[in-house]
Amino acid sequence: MTAYRKVQAIKNLEVASVCNLACPYCPARLQGEHRDTGLMSEKTFEQSLHWLARFVKAGTQQELNLFGVGEPLLHPKIVEMAARTRLVMPRYLTLRMNTNGLLVTEEIVRDLYAAGIDTIDITDHESEATMKAIRIFRKVTGQYEPRRHQPTRWGYSRDGIINPNNWGGLIDWVPEVDHPRYVCPWIANGQVMVMSTGDVTRCCQDAFGRGILGTVHDDLEQLDHTPYIQCLTCHEEIPPGIPKPNTGKAAIR
Ligand code: SF4
Ligand code: SF4
Repeated sequence: MTAYRKVQAIKNLEVASVCNLACPYCPARLQGEHRDTGLMSEKTFEQSLHWLARFVKAGTQQELNLFGVGEPLLHPKIVEMAARTRLVMPRYLTLRMNTNGLLVTEEIVRDLYAAGIDTIDITDHESEATMKAIRIFRKVTGQYEPRRHQPTRWGYSRDGIINPNNWGGLIDWVPEVDHPRYVCPWIANGQVMVMSTGDVTRCCQDAFGRGILGTVHDDLEQLDHTPYIQCLTCHEEIPPGIPKPNTGKAAIR
């Protein structure tokens, strides 16, 4: 018998699967052709918190990112969602969020930190918006550089522009420099992403919904975290001892 991990942690909660940018190196602009997209509903969010509480209690939950394939600040209830997530996540677990910076204001940054977000990462896709966001983060946090202090209150990355990956083969992109290959933490640790629809998928590379294991209304603790077809073209590696998926139709789910 193969020792797959059972699902035992939520790594990403995709509060929004729509975006206010359409970066050429990102599948977000195409994902509406492959799955339902939009904003996470109250029902899905509530049920996600149920599982989060279970995984915290079991001691298997690690950090959580209120982010998937999309821009989380598009969700009008993002601050309330952060606060409710913090109530379930003890302070020793990092609660984070990524943003492209377009909708960053001083007010929302203050509100998100007050709600219990530990760290917010700006990903640079649009330089004017990024610079404005950085100025706001500096002012609100007093942290001048993105990673000078620990714990970091805000971070910055340009990887999407200068070092993009191919999203498990979803994007027709041949990187100039090979990405370092790491053992996939999603499979190794039984981590999943809850999509905006409530579908539960194997990782945040799954923009098109090819790796869905079930929904938040299923018994997640009974689901094996198996590799799926996209793992075969991913820049991360299936952990040793875990068989590769076959490429037949059955491997897609
Ligand atoms: S890379 Fe980020 S900002 Fe750009 S389209 Fe994708 S989700 Fe949106
Ligand atoms: S190896 Fe598979 S599960 Fe892991 S990140 Fe890549 S596509 Fe996702």
